Amino acid sequence: MKPQTSSSRASSFPELLFVYGGSETVQDSKTKSRSKGSAQKKQDASGSEIDTEVVAVFTEGGKLHVPGDAAPYFSLLGRLATHAQTPFAGRQGTSLFVRFGGERGIENVLLAGMGAVSELTEEKARQAGGAAWIRAVSEKSASVRILADTFAGAQKAYFRPWLEGFLLNAYQFKKYRSEGVKPAAEGSSKKGTKKEAQSTAVPRSHFQGMPTRIEVFSTDAASRFQLSEDVEWASAMAEYVNLTRDLSNEPSNAGTPTFFAETLERIAKALGVKATTLTEADAGRERMNLYLAVGQGSEREGRIVILDYQPKATKNAKTVVLVGKGVTFDSGGISLKPGLRMEDMKHDMTGAATAAAATFLAARMKAENRVVAILGFTENMPSGTALQPGNIIKARSGKTVEIINTDAEGRLILADLLDFSSEFDPSLVVDIATLTGAVSTALGKQCAALFGNDLGVVSLLKRIGDSAGERLWELPLWDEYLHDMRSDVADLKNTCNDSLGGTIRAAVFLKQFVKKGTPWAHIDIAAMGFHVSHLNYIPKRGASGLYVRTLARLILDYGKSNAT
Ligand SMILES: [Zn+2]
Repeated sequence: MKPQTSSSRASSFPELLFVYGGSETVQDSKTKSRSKGSAQKKQDASGSEIDTEVVAVFTEGGKLHVPGDAAPYFSLLGRLATHAQTPFAGRQGTSLFVRFGGERGIENVLLAGMGAVSELTEEKARQAGGAAWIRAVSEKSASVRILADTFAGAQKAYFRPWLEGFLLNAYQFKKYRSEGVKPAAEGSSKKGTKKEAQSTAVPRSHFQGMPTRIEVFSTDAASRFQLSEDVEWASAMAEYVNLTRDLSNEPSNAGTPTFFAETLERIAKALGVKATTLTEADAGRERMNLYLAVGQGSEREGRIVILDYQPKATKNAKTVVLVGKGVTFDSGGISLKPGLRMEDMKHDMTGAATAAAATFLAARMKAENRVVAILGFTENMPSGTALQPGNIIKARSGKTVEIINTDAEGRLILADLLDFSSEFDPSLVVDIATLTGAVSTALGKQCAALFGNDLGVVSLLKRIGDSAGERLWELPLWDEYLHDMRSDVADLKNTCNDSLGGTIRAAVFLKQFVKKGTPWAHIDIAAMGFHVSHLNYIPKRGASGLYVRTLARLILDYGKSNAT
């Protein structure tokens, strides 16, 4: 498993770099021998031109508090706090941008408010990072150096979520805007001269008007390995969250099932992940009639993509199977949706995009578990050959389903894919889908709905989701919800004619296709997959990229003694 290098990408922004400017070399810190001869000055360390330094500012007892390496800023802060036109109190999410005009060897300093140390949470740190990014963009900073040592002592744990919030904001979808789009110039940024500098890049194909270079700088020998891991995670995380956003934002005339299959195959190949694509003929041989029924009204052929990541050491490895709904456009079919906001239905493949990105991210982080992602791409369209209400279709599992509403199509796709997932001998199956509009009514836009048949998996997912700022809330899976979905003429109906408990009914329908004894969870992201406007580190419109981090972390942690 060879990680991608930045040079293998077509265009990469921003560049993220970890620079250690301390006095101990790698060998020194390992052997504890003293060698101050290799000391380097801060400005020399990266050999780069940085226009803005970012200093995290905490408060303690109502007073500004700058720990660690940022101590030289302390007296400056005192003066600024008194003389600034708007007094800067360091409150969480606030910032102060100071222009020095080069007199301090740096053009500008961005003081990023973190708030009271005692009240910090991972999510608050993430939001403070998001706020700092917004300020850096509005001040037109082209290159920033984050002084990581300002996260000292107990605050160290908040650096990673802060950096996440900073980077998750680095996204725009301007691929189809003709004005002002400047393609990224390859190799234009200078490389660090110090050999310890690690460079990774977040691909930003549609990048515009944001910092193009981000340095994380530290002189603390004790923190350097942790910081370098934080930077590695943050840059990989941003890359694959942005991949999810790119795929989900793609309009359906370009984002067809074949486009997604080819795109994912290409990325998988570069990462050493095995990718197999099933055509509709292949799906027919697999008896996936529910999946095929959804796409039978479309001119565009469906594709099922199977990504398979194998860890190097297979001993003790679990097999986590992810199943994703990939409806590239959901018109509702013959049960046509109303026209208002139908354009959002290009996002109905976000579950598949999220599962794919989580698989790639886990592969990049060298997960010790095997991951198989089964992604069902197809298009739900009305036509002379489309599925009709009243039709009866035989599922791969052998159960027959009477179609009541052709807009309840996601569960049909997932039912066949969940049944198919048992072929991979899974330790755990998790499906993710923009499944029901009803989930917005039930839970609003603060969390995704979570269902599961295994208490340990449910609590692990909730814990990981809380930590990632991607909340999950459990709803019931009682079979009683199925009573209204018993058909007179088939084994099951795909929905029923009232709208009660729609999110739960969909989940209970899926449960009928999960092999008995297999731990399984279902995540409904219909409310969270796009147009999430209340998080300052997520684009307000379009795809959110949420839940990639949670699924990747699940893959990384599942089966570890400290996790389940
Ligand atoms: Zn639908």
